[in-house]
Amino acid sequence: MKPKINICWLRRDLRLEDNAAIYHALKGEYPVLLLFIFDTDILSKLASKQDARVNFLHQTLSTLSNQLQKDQGSSILIQHGKPADIWAALSETYQINAVYCNQDYEPDAIKRDTAIKEQLQTANIQFYSYKDQVIFEKNEITKADGLPYTVFTPYFKQWQQKLNNFYLRAYPTEKYFNNFWPTAVFPIPSLNDLGFEPSNQPFPGKDFENKLDGYELNRDFPAADATSHIGMHLRFGTISIRKAAQTALEKKASKWLSELAWRDFYQMILFHFPHTVTKSFKPKYDLIKWRNHPDEFEAWCLGNTGYPLVDAGMRQLNETGYMHNRVRMVVASFLCKHLLIDWRWGEAYFAEKLLDYEMASNVGGWQWACGSGNDAAPYFRVFNPELQLKKFDPKLEYVDRWVPAYKQLKHTLPMVEHAFARERVLKVFKAALNE
Ligand code: FAD
Repeated sequence: MKPKINICWLRRDLRLEDNAAIYHALKGEYPVLLLFIFDTDILSKLASKQDARVNFLHQTLSTLSNQLQKDQGSSILIQHGKPADIWAALSETYQINAVYCNQDYEPDAIKRDTAIKEQLQTANIQFYSYKDQVIFEKNEITKADGLPYTVFTPYFKQWQQKLNNFYLRAYPTEKYFNNFWPTAVFPIPSLNDLGFEPSNQPFPGKDFENKLDGYELNRDFPAADATSHIGMHLRFGTISIRKAAQTALEKKASKWLSELAWRDFYQMILFHFPHTVTKSFKPKYDLIKWRNHPDEFEAWCLGNTGYPLVDAGMRQLNETGYMHNRVRMVVASFLCKHLLIDWRWGEAYFAEKLLDYEMASNVGGWQWACGSGNDAAPYFRVFNPELQLKKFDPKLEYVDRWVPAYKQLKHTLPMVEHAFARERVLKVFKAALNE
């Protein structure tokens, strides 16, 4: 007789505490098995065999599963393959009453979940999904006419008004831990089994509380390294967004809280406007005649543009998988405007390199920088990378860390002159936008 269980399918919510899907699953009638699928549809698209994010997932899952075994005598079932095949096999092995998971707002994830839900329902298995990775989702914050906001400021006003303890309360999963299904230790596929290799990139720590005090004052100075670095933990759910927001409220870190709201905002935009992954939010921007010069793109990727702030940022990204927010804005603007290279090229490069890569925020950030986005910088605002340097890294501390040759006057010369590039982009953008 097959055992009857509920399965909680983990994806980007890798923690046992304050997890909406785990909470609801554990409160159910049947014992709960945790499942994670290394999805070959996703893994096969990754360019590097040493992808640090796959390493992070692997490490995190191994630790979680060991902890679960030690404390609760259960274990995470870690599978590798296509979700549809894995679910078909699992329904043969177990008598599954219901499947619980947390909502993912990326277009491919929505497609996957819709298909799996159907597949499970034909086998009489219920599929429940919950809001977990954002404070407000989908239509929880809308304009008076019920349509989604596309501009951040009024969205944020309502976001703040609505925010209260109800939305920030942690799910007390630990009260129900005795409902995990007792299992033997499941074998965990090795990185090699998954087709990957160890990477030696360090991961940011989870300790963000002490970064919030001087945040508002120092966050724009890349050398100060005064931001939290928790993007990756929010991406994979190793820190709960409710805990992050609650901490911001307790510490009165209102600027930092507003950054969490930007994250919610972009998730909401992606949910309502999934086409923005490949198309400009403002359609006219897809008429721009990009130069898309491959050599220039390569110089940008490698941090060899001759503009020290741009190059420092790109080298920080290449070496650490992280780039400071101010510098992300500068390098993105430089690519689209100074070099006239399609924002999608830059978006894809960031997607490959960033540890904290988040489709919604990355597409949002790139479209903002290019001018094509929903709440974007106007097209005629062209960041001057020299002025940005003077303002945000006046002592060249950040530049010196990543491009030491610059101070020694041995760095490459600017690949394009600023005034010339500015004129050129205004002409090209104007022609496309008819403005
Ligand atoms: P903190 O300043 O400490 O902020 C805390 C958290 O708030 C961040 O971890 C992040 O989750 C969220 N946040 C902060 N700023 C933003 C923002 N502008 N938009 C959305 N969320 C924000 N952020 C990503 O998480 N993933 C991306 O792939 C990404 N790509 C970007 C691409 C471009 C071109 C630009 C201009 C910005 C991008 N951002 C992205 C937003 C921002 O740069 C990063 O979230 C931030 O630099 C991460 O560092 P931190 O964790 O120290 O942030």
